[in-house]
Formats: sequence, structure tokens, C-alpha cells
Amino acid sequence: MKTEKNTDKYGRRHTYLRISLTDRCNLSCFYCTPKYGLKLSDRADQLGRREIVRTVRIAAEFGISKIRFTGGEPLFRKDIHSIIRQVKAIHGIERVSITTNGVMLKHTAAALKDAGLDSLNISLDSLDPERFNTITGSNAFHDVMDGIFAAIGQGFRPKINVVALDSLGLDEADRFLEFASIHPVTVRFIELMPLCGEGSSKTGFVPVSTIEEYLVMKHGLMNPSMDGVAKVYPLGRRGAIGFISPISHPFCDKCNRIRLSSTGTLYGCLFDSSGINIRHMLRNNTGDEEIMHIFREVLLFKKPSHGLDESNLKDRAPEIKNLIRLIGG
Ligand code: SAM
Repeated sequence: MKTEKNTDKYGRRHTYLRISLTDRCNLSCFYCTPKYGLKLSDRADQLGRREIVRTVRIAAEFGISKIRFTGGEPLFRKDIHSIIRQVKAIHGIERVSITTNGVMLKHTAAALKDAGLDSLNISLDSLDPERFNTITGSNAFHDVMDGIFAAIGQGFRPKINVVALDSLGLDEADRFLEFASIHPVTVRFIELMPLCGEGSSKTGFVPVSTIEEYLVMKHGLMNPSMDGVAKVYPLGRRGAIGFISPISHPFCDKCNRIRLSSTGTLYGCLFDSSGINIRHMLRNNTGDEEIMHIFREVLLFKKPSHGLDESNLKDRAPEIKNLIRLIGG
């Protein structure tokens, strides 16, 4: 049997590239900002628009069909609209999405739609302005809400991602469910991952099944289905509520993702301790074939799983120093 070049030795076909457009962000969520201080990369090391578009063209040849721009905060990039437009035009790229904190979305939603963006995920950990402030170190709650409604106004049906922190009260889970019942959004609770060495030490880990069981019992949720890695329950005619469990029920066996950091390093996994940098290759006229070979090499070294579970989380967490905003969340 002929193995496709984007398939690894565990039989996983890789069709999804996540690209961090910048490691800069306008929020400082405590679980995303390392205790030991944040050293941002040099601006000169960040990939430029042409380098990103060329990498996607090579990735499409490799078999990638879905792109997600993330960060840092991807809307910090003034050239995001032209990046999206150019990437959408690449043969083989079927879907382009972004993950954003929504702070700047009110002013950019229309241009993102016009550029051809297919979908967006918006991160929002609380519907309470004060709690939002505590988590993010910012009072931009109302900007995010305006951004969500601006996106809906443009015809998007955003996914709202909520990190399940142990301080998330069940009353807050109720509020998110109500929000998703009356607006065309899918709210998804995601388990906290141990990144930046403190993801699970400053706050306790909560399996999302705790929230799921509570909401199912209280609100009689029924008929869940899988949407990618999320288990999703429909809510009336408008929204939905979902649960993503990368730690308690990892989905590594179905992983189809490769990641490109904002400085041009390719990773097979968010938890890889090292990746392979292609920035210098993009800058010294290396041919497409050679760069594509690096995609292949990343898959050669990709492990079968991240190896984390609830029992080893506390021990393993301190050794994982990966910066999610550089690699891209
Ligand atoms: N700035 C954008 C945003 O806020 O959506 C994109 C980058 S952010 C790193 C992407 C997502 O990763 C956010 O939803 C954030 O909550 C999530 N995230 C960051 N650190 C995390 C962690 N340790 N565990 C789980 N999710 C995390």
C-alpha cells in the first residue's frame, strides 16, 4: 500500500496546520503567562506575510487542507486580512479559521469576512467582567462581547472556548449554557493543559466531565455528537455546548495537526520539546521540495501521544515550558 507523504508511522494523516502569527498578545491570562517572565522573540525573527503564504503553499502540496491562524493574538497582525485572502486562494486549502481573544474583533469582523475567513473561535473564560479581569489582567470584557456580536452580525457562528479552571463555578457553567441557548454560538469547555510550566500548578486541573455531568443532569442535555475533538450537545435551534478533554481523554491517536510557530519552527505536537526551524530556509532560497522534506521529518519524530494523563499531570507539568503563544494555541 502506498503511504501518503502526510501520513505518519502510526497511520495518522495530517491535514491541519496551525500557525502562530505572533507571540504578542493584548491579554495576560495567568495560565498562559510564565512565572519566570516572558521573553518575546525578536520582531526580525517573526515570519513575514510572504514567508507564511509560501509555507502554506508548500504545506498544501504536502496534503494540508485546513489552516488556523492563532498566536499570541493573531489580530495584532495588520496584514492578517491579506494573509487570509492569499492563503484562501491556494489550491488545496479548503478552510481558513482563526482563534482570537476577540478584543479587536469589533473593528475587524467585517474585513475578516471580506477576506474569506471561514470560521472563528473566540476565547472567553468568564461571562463576569470582574472574573474576566482577574484571569486576563485586562478590563476588555465588553470589547470581547462586542466582538462576539460583531462576528455574529457578519454571519459567523463562532465557537466560544472556555478554559475549565478550578475556579469556574457551576453558576458560571449555567450562564454559558444560557448564553449558548439564545445566541448562535457553540460554547466549548476545554481542559487546562500544563504549559509554560505552570498550567496546572497555579490552578487545579478539572476534568470537563465534571461540568458536563452537572449540565446534563440539570438541563437534560441529550443527543451529543462529535464535532472534531469536541463532544457537542445541541441546544434548541440556536447554539450548542461542548467539551474537549485533551488530558482526561486524549485524542492523540486521531491527531491530524502540525504547528508552525511565529518564528518559523515546525512542531508535531504542542508538547514537543523541540521542533525544526524553517525560517532560515525560507530566507536563503531553499527550494520547496527541501522545505517539504522538513514537514516529513517532523512527522517522523512525532510521538504516538503527549503521554499526559490525570495521574502524572502534577509530576510532568513543571518540566513543560512550551510557550503556547509562540507555538500557537
Ligand atoms: N490570543 C488568541 C486567543 O486568546 O484565543 C489565540 C492564542 S491563545 C494561546 C489560544 C487558546 O489557548 C485560548 O483559548 C487560550 O485560553 C488557550 N490556552 C492557553 N493556555 C492554555 C492552557 N495552558 N491550557 C488550555 N488552553 C490554553
